[in-house]
Amino acid sequence: MDSETQALHQEFSLKNYAAPPISIVRGAGVHAWDSDGRKYLDFSTGVAVNALGHCHPAWVDAIQKQAASLGHCSNLYANPLQLDLAQRLCGFAGPGEIFFCNSGAEATETLFKLSRLHGQKLSGREAQRHKVVTAKESFHGRTFGGMSATGQDKIKAGFRPLVPGFDHAEFNNLESFRQVVDQGTAAVLVEPILGEGGVRPATAAFLQGLRALCDETGALLLLDEVQTGGGRTGTYFAHEPSGIQADGIAMAKGLGGGFPIGAVWIRDAHANLFQPGSHGSTFGGNPLACAAALAVLQVIEAEGLLQHVHELGAWLIDALRGFSEKFPDLVFGARGLGFLTGLVLNTPVGPVVTACREAGLLTVPAVGDVLRLLPPLNTTQEELESALEILQEVLSGLSG
Ligand SMILES: *Cc1c(COP(=O)(O)O)cnc(C)c1O
Repeated sequence: MDSETQALHQEFSLKNYAAPPISIVRGAGVHAWDSDGRKYLDFSTGVAVNALGHCHPAWVDAIQKQAASLGHCSNLYANPLQLDLAQRLCGFAGPGEIFFCNSGAEATETLFKLSRLHGQKLSGREAQRHKVVTAKESFHGRTFGGMSATGQDKIKAGFRPLVPGFDHAEFNNLESFRQVVDQGTAAVLVEPILGEGGVRPATAAFLQGLRALCDETGALLLLDEVQTGGGRTGTYFAHEPSGIQADGIAMAKGLGGGFPIGAVWIRDAHANLFQPGSHGSTFGGNPLACAAALAVLQVIEAEGLLQHVHELGAWLIDALRGFSEKFPDLVFGARGLGFLTGLVLNTPVGPVVTACREAGLLTVPAVGDVLRLLPPLNTTQEELESALEILQEVLSGLSG
């Protein structure tokens, strides 16, 4: 990164993020280039956002055409692209209705507001039954609601008092949730795979057990699929293999393939909890964002990407597991599903992320010294193999 960029960053960028090591200026497919002209295999995908890699022609074309026809119209008026997208998302999630927003945190906020309305309906009084139970290891966003719902303490530090009424139990431990969920609980919210929390998949039995627990108590079962949704795990939603039906689902990251858009699906039975005036978003689901998201869905369908991710993801995780035999001093094993994969390290993840970047592979760290590999959904086997070669080289260098 040149010294001018560094100086500008130092002077004008809020220091809420760690100092960036490079400056990315261009992308095409699975590759990205920095300001020095260095080429990278981009398995950071903007943190599971660039579902089709960089600048997929269909995505670029859809945004260019839509920008030249209608960019924004607010939610005062009907927007056919939004209705098309809503219908398609219900096709994946089940009978329900869709609210559009712009980010993951806004999507989870919407689920918290849904929980309050549901609790009020059950108890007959506002502010009576309002507890939301989430996992201790979870991440649900950086707003006050999101921080309060997030189990990890490092996210909340310095920002108390938080929103009351959130409680936490241990992920993948049904008994722990049973101890916390009670008649005061309005909803349970979990990620089907902990993303920031270390790429830890929920077991099918855990999700099924939560569904039964929510049915017993009347609480809503809500899923945060902000990172796992959009085909990343080889099905459109990561909870699909468990067979459970959720009451609400938050989505965002991969939905627009790099254009900011979030969404919440609410099951039919609960969709009428929101009434005119009770929630909204100025930008939410604007025509440009919906055109981008529709282009992503069309490519997923036309190129058979769910099946592609399902098949190659299993192969990728097997290959990653192989590193624990080759480098037992550095690698414990691998976790994940589809193209949401994590190499579980025996060594601090930071230096491994740096070494990978210096060798031409962009990755993302997660809690517990996990190296996240998040290839675009349309990554080929050859491109995965190139990434594995770089990883092999890096781990060889580090095991010295
Ligand atoms: C990224 C993420 C969020 C927050 O999304 P933003 O768009 O950054 O607000 C919420 N939940 C999960 C599971 C995430 O991975």
